[in-house]
Amino acid sequence: MKIQTLRTWSRILLLLLMALHITTWYVLNIHAAGSIGIEALFSGLSRGVLNAGFIFWMLVFLSVLLFGRAFCGWFCWFGGYLDLVEWSIADKLKIKLPRSMPLYLAAIPFVVLFVKMYGSFLLNWLQGGIPAGFTLNLADSEPWGGQQTGLSILITAVLYGPVLLYFFGRHAWCRYLCPIGALLKIFNRIGIGKVKLINDACTGCGKCNRVCVMQVNVLGDLKNYGQVNSSDCIRCLKCTDECPVGAIAFQMGRNGEITLGAEAAGRADKISLKRRRMSALDITIVVMWVGITLFFTFNGRQGVPQEIKVAMSAGLLLIVYGVVRTADSLLKFAKYRIMGTK
Ligand code: SF4
Ligand code: SF4
Repeated sequence: MKIQTLRTWSRILLLLLMALHITTWYVLNIHAAGSIGIEALFSGLSRGVLNAGFIFWMLVFLSVLLFGRAFCGWFCWFGGYLDLVEWSIADKLKIKLPRSMPLYLAAIPFVVLFVKMYGSFLLNWLQGGIPAGFTLNLADSEPWGGQQTGLSILITAVLYGPVLLYFFGRHAWCRYLCPIGALLKIFNRIGIGKVKLINDACTGCGKCNRVCVMQVNVLGDLKNYGQVNSSDCIRCLKCTDECPVGAIAFQMGRNGEITLGAEAAGRADKISLKRRRMSALDITIVVMWVGITLFFTFNGRQGVPQEIKVAMSAGLLLIVYGVVRTADSLLKFAKYRIMGTK
């Protein structure tokens, strides 16, 4: 069976397990294990409860130490949804998508992570103190917290799927907003399993760079380390599938002394330069987004409807991005007119 087919089946299996979990809790009234969402983990920590979310995320962290962010590439249901959206919109309808978004927009998910932790347990710990002890209670919270509405789910599906895809490219949610991705990213480099050079056949064609949904500079990493070290790599293995000469594969442990040949290394330099351009505009976007988000976080968001909450991060990013880009175009136009009339 092909690797990408296996990935599809891993997501289907996860959805079936989620359906089973919800059915046993709500239909059969068997309350063995509660929510495994990241919110459940944070909420449990704030109250001194080690719940099902805590156990689940500890297992995920263990998997990161072994396989890096394979959880994102193989088991996250939202990543599966994004693959479906990208396959149907970008691949089938052949819509051109942005490719070279600046890398440091990736600072944003860490702020989302902080906001989530602040709202869930950091604030409680600051106000009420760290719980004196922790007790184990797997059935601590409902699998479906009851906060989501039909409209908030629809907003999430549209805004974080096709809309972000159109403006920011493939897997934009994973690269620029996901707090779980930010958390796992921190440990991704130390994961033992990585995509590695397995022979000296690489021609430097750059196909691995082009197929990577996380826009990892695969060839650049191969040149520098002989393996993909990027914290964005989700071990989806599309690059290993698509490499025309079979030069790379997922491996545990060291890859020995295999390095890129001179010709491939030369091409790696050219591709890297193209992909790592930065601009003052992008820094402005990040600073504005972070500033506004932190302002709302510290000024309280009680009573904000769920629909607004779910639209907040992506909606704000799109607004800030639109405003900054429009202002830049107007400035350029004004400059052009002034220079033209001199
Ligand atoms: S690893 Fe494979 S796909 Fe990537 S540049 Fe080398 S030959 Fe091309
Ligand atoms: S580098 Fe390869 S395995 Fe990692 S995310 Fe990109 S395509 Fe997937």
